Amino acid sequence: MAEFGSQQILKPGLYVVATPIGNLGDLSPRAKHILAEVDMIACEDTRVTARLLTANLIKKPLVPYHEHNGPVARPKILAKLASGGKVALVSDAGTPLISDPGFKLVAEAQDAGHLVSAVPGPCAAVMALSLAGLPTDRFLFMGFPPGKSKARQSWFKAEAKTHASLVFYESAKRVADCLKDAADVLGARQAAICRELTKRFEEVRRDNLLALAAHYSEADTPKGEIVVVIGPPAEHSHDDATALDMEALLTAALKHMSVKSASAFVAELTDVPKKTIYARALELTKGR
Ligand code: SAM
Repeated sequence: MAEFGSQQILKPGLYVVATPIGNLGDLSPRAKHILAEVDMIACEDTRVTARLLTANLIKKPLVPYHEHNGPVARPKILAKLASGGKVALVSDAGTPLISDPGFKLVAEAQDAGHLVSAVPGPCAAVMALSLAGLPTDRFLFMGFPPGKSKARQSWFKAEAKTHASLVFYESAKRVADCLKDAADVLGARQAAICRELTKRFEEVRRDNLLALAAHYSEADTPKGEIVVVIGPPAEHSHDDATALDMEALLTAALKHMSVKSASAFVAELTDVPKKTIYARALELTKGR
């Protein structure tokens, strides 16, 4: 393992540096060293990065690099690298390039033959996977879902058969609607809502999607930042799959439809006979 020495002399190049996602203590010693050694720091919002630097007693020239100014800012950063400069790339929080700007800059710096190195560290998606208690042997990071329900349902449908946990970011104000769409499309899969990670009110709520959708539709809009992790589809025989999907679909459908309409709807989507579904729907709604 290479050693980190505080006197390490930095070579010219681009350093992609992960920064805290809420807890300032998560800036690694190597990240701090590199931020203190580079000639300039490319960042999303200069005010946000200035606060991080001030907290660490570092003063450096900051250049804005975000999704709107890439074509103008990139050539300037590449020119700095071409003149033998050392540049760090950070985002407002977490690991740059993960739902954050940077991939074109990294590609162009690599293609121009500059040293490109990274300081790994906090990433909300990875931390959520560490806490969700769901399979991590295969996962698909999906960024942010679309804002509109129809597009969101198609977004989930496209991955409904993917044998991997699904990980994505969502805003607190949209999480209830998003979970409802996820439950409608994916049924009663296990999931975890990971909120305010590394912060004072850190919370992980684990349950099946139907229960989570019901919880967030009834509760007040949650506060803070959220990562959603949804477990993979269960591995089972065709018969089991049909039965499981039927149960999940029917439960979701009965929230919005009459017993008759829900049964007809689910019969169209599964191989289960309508009579069986109707009987199960009556059982599920008994006493309502
Ligand atoms: N690059 C960042 C990373 O590595 O985590 C993610 C940037 S993305 C623009 C911001 C989203 O990440 C937020 O809207 C939220 O969904 C998620 N996020 C960031 N910090 C978080 C935290 N402390 N707890 C939960 N989610 C967080």
